[in-house]
Amino acid sequence: MGLFEQLKKGLAKTKNGFIDKVTELVTGYKKLEPEFYDDLEAVLIQADVGVHTAMDLVEKIRCKAEKDKLETPDKVKELLKEEIAKILGEDTVPLNIPSESPAVYLVVGVNGVGKTTTIGKLAYKLKLEGKKILLVAGDTFRAAAIDQLEIWANRVGVEMLKHQEGSDPAAVAYDGIQAAKARCTDVVIIDTAGRLHNKSNLMEEIKKVRRVIERELPGAPHEVLLVLDATTGQNAIAQANLFKEATGVTSIAITKLDGTAKGGVIIGICSQLDIPVKFIGIGEKIDDLKEFEPHDFVEALFA
Ligand code: GDP
Ligand code: MG
Repeated sequence: MGLFEQLKKGLAKTKNGFIDKVTELVTGYKKLEPEFYDDLEAVLIQADVGVHTAMDLVEKIRCKAEKDKLETPDKVKELLKEEIAKILGEDTVPLNIPSESPAVYLVVGVNGVGKTTTIGKLAYKLKLEGKKILLVAGDTFRAAAIDQLEIWANRVGVEMLKHQEGSDPAAVAYDGIQAAKARCTDVVIIDTAGRLHNKSNLMEEIKKVRRVIERELPGAPHEVLLVLDATTGQNAIAQANLFKEATGVTSIAITKLDGTAKGGVIIGICSQLDIPVKFIGIGEKIDDLKEFEPHDFVEALFA
């Protein structure tokens, strides 16, 4: 399957639950009347675009339709596509790669969003580019979390550094950086815990990990990658604000887009947050992490 076909397949639920509903509206209304716009806004909100962004989008489309003296909704889908494309931006934003190795990427996010899985997939991607990679098991909260990362490391065929369950994540990060320097590693990817039942402790823990990285390798971390689960809807925005404040997030990966009709959340994230989305997860397989290419994304959605 080609890349674009994979993307289309991964976004099929969102297309069914969102874009196909817009098509129904466009064919259902004979005229551009106020109820049409109300219904359009409702469809956008159902797709988890977010109330604010949905209202904004509808307003823009209404203005454009008035300016162009449109009387029927035929062209609305096209207008919507244009406006969504504007929100998502033009370009793919690549990972920050320092001039001198190692690059250090710290991966954060709440429990279950797909951090460890995304790390495995990212390691696979970077390994294909010929990079020497070290995964660091910074989620020391449960032994199973360490095992899970190890399984990914073995599957991809990259090195992994771990301590025992319950050990200090900052100490693991410290060892990770030292090992990377000694072994001429290109990329270090550090996993973290995401349990939210003691929010402030989690944030303090990640801050400490960050401080150790900064101290041991000036300029690092080169990315703080926040993983967000597309199926959690608007809660993803709240999580982003929380982590942004505490850990200085530099990029976002949105996972599980294949599992939801509410993939519109990516539109809300791009419009409400000032952090580039760099990756999307569209499945559980090793090659189901894709660089976020706004143009292809919109085309796949509206195809
Ligand atoms: P963590 O707690 O943040 O480390 O989350 P995990 O990496 O353990 O992932 C939690 C679950 O989400 C696992 O069952 C993953 O297979 C699943 N998952 C992660 N990314 C994706 C994705 O893009 N699509 C689907 N369908 N499942 C995913
Ligand atoms: Mg994990």
